[in-house]
Amino acid sequence: MRRNRRVKILATLGPANPDQASIEKLFRAGADVFRINMSHSSHDVMRERIAQIRAVEKKVGRPIGILADLQGPKLRLGEFKDGAENLARGARFILDADPTPGDATRVHLPHPEILSALEPGHAVLIDDGKVRLKVIEATKTKAVTEVIVAGRVSNRKGVSLPDTTIPVSAMTPKDRSDLEAALAAGIDWVALSFVQRPEDVAEVKKTCAGRALVMAKIEKPQAIVRLDEIMEISDALMVARGDLGVEMPLEKVPGLQKRITRTARRLGKPVVVATQMLESMIASPVPTRAEVSDVATAVFEGADAVMLSAESAAGQYPIEAVSTMNRIAEEVERDQVYRAVINGQRAAPEATGADAIAVAARDVAETLDLKAIVAWTSSGSTGLRIARERPQPPILALTPKVETARRLALVWGVHAVITEDARDVDDMADRACKIANSEGFARAGQRVIIVAGVPFGTPGATNMVRIAFVQK
Ligand code: PGA
Ligand code: MN
Repeated sequence: MRRNRRVKILATLGPANPDQASIEKLFRAGADVFRINMSHSSHDVMRERIAQIRAVEKKVGRPIGILADLQGPKLRLGEFKDGAENLARGARFILDADPTPGDATRVHLPHPEILSALEPGHAVLIDDGKVRLKVIEATKTKAVTEVIVAGRVSNRKGVSLPDTTIPVSAMTPKDRSDLEAALAAGIDWVALSFVQRPEDVAEVKKTCAGRALVMAKIEKPQAIVRLDEIMEISDALMVARGDLGVEMPLEKVPGLQKRITRTARRLGKPVVVATQMLESMIASPVPTRAEVSDVATAVFEGADAVMLSAESAAGQYPIEAVSTMNRIAEEVERDQVYRAVINGQRAAPEATGADAIAVAARDVAETLDLKAIVAWTSSGSTGLRIARERPQPPILALTPKVETARRLALVWGVHAVITEDARDVDDMADRACKIANSEGFARAGQRVIIVAGVPFGTPGATNMVRIAFVQK
């Protein structure tokens, strides 16, 4: 089974797809990677999800990626005596360290390290920015604020602090325990929420120790300030437009999406565009024109993957949302301006053997209209460098490692197949052609280009290309 598009679809799981059969339907409709949101999943639920996905993987015979998304330091208010209060514009409202239930004048902010980091002038946004406060006076145990945008606040609503660098690691105790459980259960990717500094990513990478790759969710202004360093250290990026649009002016999000996507493409790291892509499909079988255009923009930009959140996890039309995304992607990639847009954003190769070979493979494949670029890749890095070229022909990645195949499920244009390492150069070419044929990329008499490193099994030794005919 192969997709008729290069961009991948990342679908979040949730109550709308409780069993293996519904996950299989999502996969068949086009989902390549599944996201398990640890904010809403117990360890038992997560393990059950992973077992269901692996069962689907076995049934359909294709590697499927699993992304565990860690909640990160999501801040919340304490509780109110009456459950909720309405705050009037211009009024004073205090956030403090006192756990007594709050009222119209004050509430507990159960994060002591945050109270001590707040400074006069900082904005405090409540419930995705529906209510906006400005800090007027701050001490270690309380912040007096003025209500700038009035509204209703209630128990445990989310708090965003666009101006305050939070002096805690991006991993809470819950995240640490979630990460250990997810790694033990065999996930492929871990996403870290509310990354502020490169050290946040470094810490998760250290814990993962190669057992999973790390995706940094870019959703805080502090991360934008240190974007280059964060992108350099991360294995992949997510343009997390939901929280990004709360913590930054909304109108800055499209430009940031372009900047992050372009930089990720230059670095050769997978980038996911996320949140509200087909939001109206939570309750409607048809998206809005604006949503279709938004998905199309991400595809034109050459993002590796587009993501569905509540549309697939909790909406009324999860399958329709995936198949709609699939149709938009296929159509955009067939559009006559698509190639020109994609090529226009291509970055120059780095001065490495792998990049020089990737450029050569694309060039030869496009010049001769070859049916696939077949890459022997053990760690997946050769596959990634070829994907970085965004070549016209599909990329068929052959790897002996199931983890590599699953990780590559997220990567633009890569169709991964698990097969043992090539024995010698003849075996390398024969098997590449056979698999290209059996996977539906090339018929007898058609040609593919093969990329490999000799001697086989030596990482970082990509050093050859070969054109080969598929035999009868
Ligand atoms: P979330 O992340 O869905 O976990 O909040 C994505 C976003 O903020 O856009
Ligand atoms: Mn978020």
